[in-house]
Amino acid sequence: MTAEIISVGTELLLGNILNTNAQYLSQELNALGIGVCYHTVVGDNPQRVRRAVDIARQRADIIITTGGLGPTLDDLTKETIAKAMGDVIVENPDCMQYLKENYARAGRTMTPNNLKQAYMPSRAIVLPNDAGTAPGFALEQDGKLIIAMPGPPREMTRMFELQVKPLLQKRQDSVIYYRMLRMFGIGESSLETVLLPLIDGQTDPTLATYAKEGECSLRIASKRA
Ligand code: ATP
Repeated sequence: MTAEIISVGTELLLGNILNTNAQYLSQELNALGIGVCYHTVVGDNPQRVRRAVDIARQRADIIITTGGLGPTLDDLTKETIAKAMGDVIVENPDCMQYLKENYARAGRTMTPNNLKQAYMPSRAIVLPNDAGTAPGFALEQDGKLIIAMPGPPREMTRMFELQVKPLLQKRQDSVIYYRMLRMFGIGESSLETVLLPLIDGQTDPTLATYAKEGECSLRIASKRA
């Protein structure tokens, strides 16, 4: 199973914030045995988000998006994903109740635009947000699974740990084990030359060399059922 991570947010493209969500999700997905093949970053623009989702559906089995689920006008991820997956947005009574209770508990007045967070694609499995107000969701179509989570890292990591990870574990029958060996006194190209007979035609385990400042390393990875 392969995955693509789509990080939605103009702030990311402007360089105002670092894409730590993609780093976290890549580590977690690889640990589950799901190979991450692409990272895409796209601004808060419905046409471009739609194009990113359409492309991802052609090249990955699982698509995970973060960002753009909030109440403001530029939060368009949910509507765009629903359209791409041939679904429509409808009011979700559970989300509406949760949203109202949440605001009442916090003693805050809800502005009308917040109601947007109670609307979900009609076929979606709702992923409650323990650390904020915007719920996430999972939606499947033609064997492709899209999981949409909010952008704030605290909300996203909690949602991943509590809801998304168990959901993915149910579908996944293998995990990836890997070891990093740090090498000294040998450059990356020499290391690769020495290992060429092993690297040529490798399937499982796989070997990859990485150059860093002052050292290089060798990653040995194996997929096990
Ligand atoms: P909100 O309910 O806050 O509107 P949202 O799902 O709409 O949530 P965004 O508005 O896209 O999310 O992002 C909210 C904040 O989360 C950003 O300002 C940023 O600080 C952080 N954030 C978003 N995406 C990422 C990312 N990929 N990596 C790290 N931080 C991120």
